[in-house]
Amino acid sequence: MGFQVYEAPEVETDEMNFGALNMPPHHPARDMWDTFWINDEILLRTHTSPGQIRAMRERYPDPIRVILPGKCYRYEQITARAEHQFYQVEGLAVGHGIRMTDLIGTLTQFAHRFYGTGGRIRIRGSYFPFTEPSIEADISCILCAGEGCRVCKYSGWLEIAGAGMVHPVVLENGGYDPNEWSGFAFGMGVERPAMLKYDIDDIRLFHGNDLRFLRQF
Ligand SMILES: [Zn+2]
Repeated sequence: MGFQVYEAPEVETDEMNFGALNMPPHHPARDMWDTFWINDEILLRTHTSPGQIRAMRERYPDPIRVILPGKCYRYEQITARAEHQFYQVEGLAVGHGIRMTDLIGTLTQFAHRFYGTGGRIRIRGSYFPFTEPSIEADISCILCAGEGCRVCKYSGWLEIAGAGMVHPVVLENGGYDPNEWSGFAFGMGVERPAMLKYDIDDIRLFHGNDLRFLRQF
């Protein structure tokens, strides 16, 4: 689909991780990400989204299609389902006339390739400070075909990604005039879909350095 891999730093500034993504100081949405701070300005990125700003500032005035993979950090308790370090894959497309249907088509294509064809896709309204409108995309549970099971918490659906149309403020902070340009972005975890696909029951195994775990791949 023409997406290029774009790598961005894991150690970021407050401005790139929050400010340029439409979360100025004291914005309440910052509370959605528990953060490891190095000092008042420097932090460990809580998501791959600061790479969107870096990609836009570097690529302007060209159209953009990039995939941003990488490690993120959150100040959270470690459990079988949550780690304080994890991987995300983010996607960003910026161009003329990019629409929500382009986003939904891209996510649907990904889901069918990754989880196998046949799954139904569900789009729900959501909120992120850096997209407007924001959505969550789900696929019908691949384990129970939507009947309801323990893995999908008896809902019949599995979350694939958070996504949305790039917020005009974010486009502007990247150097693109929102009156001429539009774009979509999506972000998803890597470990949880892998846990589902390979039947891994504990997220801590990814960073445990147990060769028996690593060699099976
Ligand atoms: Zn299920």
